[in-house]
Amino acid sequence: MEEAVAHSMRDSMVNDYLKERLERLKDNSEGAVADYIPELAAADDSPFSVAICTTNGQVYAEGLNDGDVDLEFTIQSMSKPFAYALALEERGVEEVAKYVGVEPSGEAFNELSLEGETKRPMNPMINAGAIAINQMINGEDSTVEERVEKIRQFFSKLAGRELSIDEDVSTSEIETSDRNLSIAHMLRSYGMVNDSAHDAVESYTKQCSIKVTVSDLAMMAATLANGGVQPQTGERVCGRLVARHVQAVMASAGMYNGAGQWMATVGIPAKSGVSGGIMGTLPGRLGLAAFSPKLNEKGNSVRAKKLFQTLSWDMGLHLMEAEAHGRVCVRSITSEEVPAADKGIKTTVRLQGDIDFSAAENFWRIIQDHGIPSKTLFLDLEKVDQVNAIGNEMLKEAKSRLTKAGYNVTIVDPDKVLK
Ligand code: GLU
Repeated sequence: MEEAVAHSMRDSMVNDYLKERLERLKDNSEGAVADYIPELAAADDSPFSVAICTTNGQVYAEGLNDGDVDLEFTIQSMSKPFAYALALEERGVEEVAKYVGVEPSGEAFNELSLEGETKRPMNPMINAGAIAINQMINGEDSTVEERVEKIRQFFSKLAGRELSIDEDVSTSEIETSDRNLSIAHMLRSYGMVNDSAHDAVESYTKQCSIKVTVSDLAMMAATLANGGVQPQTGERVCGRLVARHVQAVMASAGMYNGAGQWMATVGIPAKSGVSGGIMGTLPGRLGLAAFSPKLNEKGNSVRAKKLFQTLSWDMGLHLMEAEAHGRVCVRSITSEEVPAADKGIKTTVRLQGDIDFSAAENFWRIIQDHGIPSKTLFLDLEKVDQVNAIGNEMLKEAKSRLTKAGYNVTIVDPDKVLK
C-alpha cells in the first residue's frame, strides 16, 4: 500500500515557483504591442507564460491564464539564432563569416548599416545579418518555398514537433516591409543577396512567421544549451561547435542596443522577438523562454524581460556566476528493514556534490520517479560539498512538502552544509 502512496505523489515545486512569479508580475501593464505589423497590432495582449527545459529534457511550463501555455505565436527575431545555426551547419563557420560578422552593433534591430571595410552586416542578430543568413540557406539556386521549408523542418527538429507558418502574419508583414526591403536592396548592392529584394524579404519574413509555443522555444533553446542534441528526442540537430558559436553571438549581440546591459544584469545569452517572446540558453543546463506581447521602446517584452531578470536572480542562472553545477546529485536510494519498534522499512536517499538549482531539481524528480518505498525517509547529505541559496531553499521545501505528504523526514547533515 505504502508504495502506491509513494508513486502517486506528483508535485512540481518548479511549476509552483514559476506560477508564483507570473502572478507577481501580472498587474504590470507597461508597454504596447508591436504595431508595425498589422496582424501583431491586433494581438491579444493578456497572455503571459514561461517555460524551462533542462538539458535532461524535463519541461516546466506555466501560464498566467488558461491556455497561455499552449498558445502559438510567431517566432519573429527569435528565429535568427536558429537560422544562423542552420547556415553554419550547411556552409561552415568560415564561409558564413565572409558574409556576416560576429561583432555587437549596438544598433536597433532594423538599422541600415554594414561593417566599414568588409561591407558585411555586423552580426546575424540584426535584420541585415539575418536577411543575409537566410539567403545562405539551401544554396543559391533555392526557391523561396524550398528555403523556407528547409528552415521550417530544421526548427521542427529543434522543437521536437512539426511547426507551421502563420501565413496571415507573414502576408501582413510583407505588405509593410519597406524597411526590410531597403536593407535587402543595400545587401544586394554589395553582392550579399542573390534573390530579388522582394524574394529575400519574403523568405526572411516567413522564417519569422513560424509559429511556436513557449515550451517549443524552451526546447529549441535547450537544444543549443545541450550542445546541439534535442534533449527529448535525442536527435543531434546541429554540431556542438555550431551550438556554442551561436550562443556566443547571442550573448554579445542578441539583445541589440541593450545587449551589454542585459548581459551584465541577467547574464543569459538571449534573443527577443517583437511578438513578445524572449528565449535564452544556459550552456549545459537549460533553455528558457517567456512570452507576453507588450513591448518596451527597444522592442523587448516588458513582462518577459522582468521575468528573466527575476529568474536569473532567484535561480542563480547568471552565466558569469562562479558556481559548479552538479547534475548527478543522487548517489543512491536504498531501503532496509529496521527493528519492529520503528515499524518496518526505512529509505535513505544519499546526495553528493554541489547542490544548485539543477541538482535540486534532479533530486526532486528522481525521488518522484523512483518512488519512496517507506514513510520513514532519511536524506543523507554527508557526501554533499556545498549547497547554494536556491539549492538550500529547494531542499528545505522538499522536506516540508514530503512532511505534508505524510513522510517522516530526517536530514542527516554532519557537516552542516544546509543553512
Ligand atoms: N520580422 C520582424 C522584422 O524583421 C522581426 C523583428 C523582431 O522580432 O525583432 O521586422
